[in-house]
Amino acid sequence: LYSGPTRAFKDMALQPFGALLSHFAAQKKQTYLILAATSGDTGPATLESFANKPYIKVICLYPDGGTSDIQRLQMTTQNASNCKVIGIKGNFDDAQSALKNLLNDKDFITNLHAQGIYLSAANSVNIGRIVFQIIYHFWAYFSLLKNAQITFGEKISIVVPSGNFGNILGAFFAKKMGLPLQKLVVASNVNNILSDFIHSGVYDVSSRVLLRSKSPAMDILKSSNVERVLYALFGAKRTRQLMESLQTKGAYSLNQDELALLQDDFSALYCDDTQCLQSMTEVIKKGFVLDPHSAIAYYGAKKLQKENIIDKSVFLATAEWSKFAPSVWEALQEAYSLQDVYSDEKNAIKDICEHTSAVLPQAISTLFNKPITQKDVVAISVIRSCIMQWIEQS
Ligand SMILES: *Cc1c(COP(=O)(O)O)cnc(C)c1O
Repeated sequence: LYSGPTRAFKDMALQPFGALLSHFAAQKKQTYLILAATSGDTGPATLESFANKPYIKVICLYPDGGTSDIQRLQMTTQNASNCKVIGIKGNFDDAQSALKNLLNDKDFITNLHAQGIYLSAANSVNIGRIVFQIIYHFWAYFSLLKNAQITFGEKISIVVPSGNFGNILGAFFAKKMGLPLQKLVVASNVNNILSDFIHSGVYDVSSRVLLRSKSPAMDILKSSNVERVLYALFGAKRTRQLMESLQTKGAYSLNQDELALLQDDFSALYCDDTQCLQSMTEVIKKGFVLDPHSAIAYYGAKKLQKENIIDKSVFLATAEWSKFAPSVWEALQEAYSLQDVYSDEKNAIKDICEHTSAVLPQAISTLFNKPITQKDVVAISVIRSCIMQWIEQS
């Protein structure tokens, strides 16, 4: 899923989403402000999709220091005049909370309307993202059919490295639409709130702190799309109850019947950084280079197949190795017992290309030579005024 312009699966939905949204905006002659909060991949994919599109302005919030160099450069070298990138002093949960607050901020919205601007979001809080994320699950199934690896109607499982639960929500909807899927497997990193939830029925943010891992796109505790699964399985009234409990107590629990229903569709597991690196090393030795997120799905698929929890399955590769070169470099060292000393991300990329069959796409290699045009890094408290200031100037 990572063959799009910014080398992560976010392109799969944001490319068509961007084209449609700006088409309709132009048709209505209405300007839209698109907000994006990113843990590293949504930001670049949103900017790429909307840069220089008429009737569109983009604000992209990323956690300063929370992304890889490549991901940061993909955003900070963006020079389209309709795009503004803001680093924030906080993590992804802070960025996403800031975004949700702005989407509900009446003053902010009224102020924008007065300038003829409407608000939308590029994150998977926007159902427009999820719609496109249904399609490739059908494609995966039909590809297996075409290659005679399954027979028509045979069930397969899908293993998804999950953070905000948007990718796997696409698979859930595909299943509800009739695609013969057995288990949808949530693969988490050490921030394993999702895999705990699928196992126990308890979603508890209150007892956790966000940990930094080698798969930063999954360093999330407030996983936005779980609510949509609750809504689909248990209805509006119960979902509201659970969400209110999350708001007030930082936690909620399903009852036994609800948990059983959830487990009909979902399985889960998690993988720590050591197991993740081991999986990357194992695959490098087989001649293929996985990024850390995809490696977690690979680990999950193998483990659950071994335990006979799933049978034939597809694991989703969500990013190209090039976006996470420091971790890939570590796995490479291990695979070939190399003695080189790590210097920086640029050299790590060079080493990986020398030792494996991996090829660096031009969109990534040229990043290091582009001027940095987006330099703002601000405190969470001033995000709103920073945005208003940019809107008034642009
Ligand atoms: C966004 C992302 C994920 C998590 O996907 P969700 O839809 O948020 O669950 C996993 N891996 C990579 C590389 C990503 O960019």
